[in-house]
Amino acid sequence: MSAIIIDGAAMARQVLDEQKIRAAQLAQQGRVPGLAVVLVGDDPASAVYVRSKTRACREAGVQSFDTRLPAATAEAELLQRIDALNADPRVHGILVQLPLPPHINAVTVLQRIAAAKDVDGFTWRSLGALLDGHAGLAPCTPSGSMLMLERAGVPIAGRHAVVIGRSSIVGKPAALMLLERNATVTICHSRTVDLPAVTRQADILVCAIGKPRMVTADMVKPGAAVIDVGINRLPDGKLCGDVDFEPVRARAGWITPVPGGVGPMTIAMLIANVITATERAPLC
Ligand code: NDP
Repeated sequence: MSAIIIDGAAMARQVLDEQKIRAAQLAQQGRVPGLAVVLVGDDPASAVYVRSKTRACREAGVQSFDTRLPAATAEAELLQRIDALNADPRVHGILVQLPLPPHINAVTVLQRIAAAKDVDGFTWRSLGALLDGHAGLAPCTPSGSMLMLERAGVPIAGRHAVVIGRSSIVGKPAALMLLERNATVTICHSRTVDLPAVTRQADILVCAIGKPRMVTADMVKPGAAVIDVGINRLPDGKLCGDVDFEPVRARAGWITPVPGGVGPMTIAMLIANVITATERAPLC
């Protein structure tokens, strides 16, 4: 068997095209969706992510407002900037690019973003809405992963989904979303005993670990859908996922590649969240 490759790049283009239509409808009403991206410091990987987000905004008809601040920026100054963006009616979504410099408390900063503009879905209010089954602004990486499963036609209801990773931005929300779609969900982490025995039971396996090629073919049930969230840089500079792609591909039913899988879908879902936030914003 060779798995169906779920092409995240192509699917993301499709999602962005859909957002372009929604954005154009809003623009006709004089409501141009706006995303503010805040970048503190000069981390090169963050700068690359910000550039791709800005490019996606442009493609979809979303106005982007970039705030670039030096690494030495005080936390209080950053909080003031966020307050200003919270109050700016042109801005419907606010994204603070992580990681922040070590002297800044990322939790304090992220929680300062108004829930209505929390397009990353990281505030406790957004995560609480997800926990309670409400359609809020959901975290982009897990919602992109869910859309990939849905559009690829992977059955979810009643299936056993195993999520490796329990971070608040990927693993836990992915598990909640799968539960919401009536999967039976198991969450694994670094203290899970006999991880392969658990993952071999998975009809859907979501890997959000951050360890290059850790998930090997013997850990995968034949025919399973494998979503590889991991983005890892190898010593030769190439990117790879958490999944040992070729051998797992030979065993799985569906698989997402890295690069070109969950990554582009994450950006597309961010844009979708900006449009949703704009649609919900009070008319001024
Ligand atoms: P975190 O480091 O916050 O979480 C990693 C999780 O993996 C933890 O829950 C950890 O367990 C678990 N883990 C680590 N080692 C093992 C192990 N040996 N066995 C089982 N579980 C293990 O990472 P994130 O959730 O933020 O990100 C995960 C990956 O996804 C990274 O590669 C990141 O780059 C990528 N990512 C990709 C995005 C995209 O757009 N495609 C967006 C966001 C992230 P424990 O809790 O016990 O420590």
